[in-house]
Amino acid sequence: MVERRKKIVVLGGGYGGVECTRKLEEYFKDDNGIEIVLISEDNFLLFTPMLPQVAAGMLATRDIVMPIRTIIKKTTFYEGRVKNIDPHGKIVNLWGTDEKRAISIHYDFLVVSLGSETNFFGMSDVEKHAYTIKTLNDAMTIRNRVIDMLEQAENESNPILRKSLLTFVLVGGGFAGIETAGELMDLLLDARKYYPKISKNEIQVMVLEALPNILPGFDEKLARFAHNLLTKNGIEIKLKTAVTSFDGFEIKMKKIVDESKNEEPEIEAVQTRTVIWTAGVTPVNTIKRSMFKTERGKIIVNDFLEVSDFPGVFAIGDCALFIDPSTERPFAPTAQLAEAQAKTAAYNLHALIRNESMKKFEYQSRGQMAIIGKRNGVASIFGMNISGIWAWALWRNVYLSKIPRWDKRLRVLLDWTIDLFFDRDISRLKFEDKKPTKEYRVLDEVDDVW
Ligand SMILES: Cc1cc2nc3c(=O)[nH]c(=O)nc-3n(C[C@H](O)[C@H](O)[C@H](O)COP(=O)(O)OP(=O)(O)OC[C@H]3O[C@@H](n4cnc5c(N)ncnc54)[C@H](O)[C@@H]3O)c2cc1C
Repeated sequence: MVERRKKIVVLGGGYGGVECTRKLEEYFKDDNGIEIVLISEDNFLLFTPMLPQVAAGMLATRDIVMPIRTIIKKTTFYEGRVKNIDPHGKIVNLWGTDEKRAISIHYDFLVVSLGSETNFFGMSDVEKHAYTIKTLNDAMTIRNRVIDMLEQAENESNPILRKSLLTFVLVGGGFAGIETAGELMDLLLDARKYYPKISKNEIQVMVLEALPNILPGFDEKLARFAHNLLTKNGIEIKLKTAVTSFDGFEIKMKKIVDESKNEEPEIEAVQTRTVIWTAGVTPVNTIKRSMFKTERGKIIVNDFLEVSDFPGVFAIGDCALFIDPSTERPFAPTAQLAEAQAKTAAYNLHALIRNESMKKFEYQSRGQMAIIGKRNGVASIFGMNISGIWAWALWRNVYLSKIPRWDKRLRVLLDWTIDLFFDRDISRLKFEDKKPTKEYRVLDEVDDVW
């Protein structure tokens, strides 16, 4: 009897999923007994650290996406959205659409790397009215929104309305919020040249952060440097500030105070039409609804990144809960962590299939970097702290080298070079929807399992 090939299914074509697939291809290069399958909603890997630059019109949208089919070699790729995972029957079900059949895929081994989505902490008004920066669509929408606000403000005679059109509020002082604030300010100041009635003083970019400092996880000195520089460039940063509501016209916030000292929380309201929410992520619903044990929505994994109760199932990246033994808190969700976990998960899968011993996941961050606009950045790398133009140059070099394809690297480099000498394009393209329309619908379950 011919032995059936063993199937490893990887869910999610982001940093974790793609890196794990690449490593699995290496490990099982000459092993025809193993079939590797990758399933993801989009057929590209999105280079998220460069999303703020797309939102600011510095990079073209296609520069920062890599088609998955050009990265993988022997893996079978399915473009589709996971509906649910049945870990008892070892089956992954995909949604159908008007054009696609709903299908079920059997697995012997599974790697879950479905990432995360924006967390609004239950504030439905904010979710309804605020913009997010998580997808390519989000970045394009923000760019168009900012340009639209300039167009409206230029010919607006009501000073109160004018001010609210020119006020942009970013909620969250982490990577995404700070980098987007810096890039947005650069775009606004660049574009102002074509809006002669708008003065520099009328433009307001504000960052709201609930913690006592921005860029948590960075060296304190570097975070302070970034804070001072952003303030010098005209960005207002409000620390220890929590958003309480946003109705599309006014954002309300309160100061976080020490209640034990009987301090009264100060309430403030700012008129704005554009709030960009970057204040946190939570795993996608497919994970929260799954049969896996979760905490704070993330899948609980053991030291080997294996999901408890389900041997042969691994979870990595933003959707996995792994506690940093040195702080006893979960690691911050980063691309670097997702890639490191992907490597360990691939190694352990290989070991498991070969009946060898698996290795524990151990992580040492290689450093952190952020760019903060006006050709400035902050970086802590190999124990060294760098700031200013050197950190900005380092950021560009490191992230350019991380783009897996030469043609994309060249495109990014070209766009960066053009940006040094020419003004940004201020054409407002009409993408009206905040989110792409949902194309998914439930079809009758099919009985064939692929
Ligand atoms: C604006 C921004 C800037 C950032 N900057 C940095 C940075 O500078 N450095 C850094 O280290 N990190 C950065 N990050 C964080 C980093 O992007 C994430 O931590 C990383 O992408 C996590 O990798 P992942 O594989 O877990 O998830 P993701 O990369 O999000 O991949 C998840 C994949 O699963 C797919 N998916 C989700 N649900 C389904 C479903 N139901 N069915 C099928 N497919 C599905 C998604 O389409 C996606 O392809 C940034 C994030 C953002 C948003």
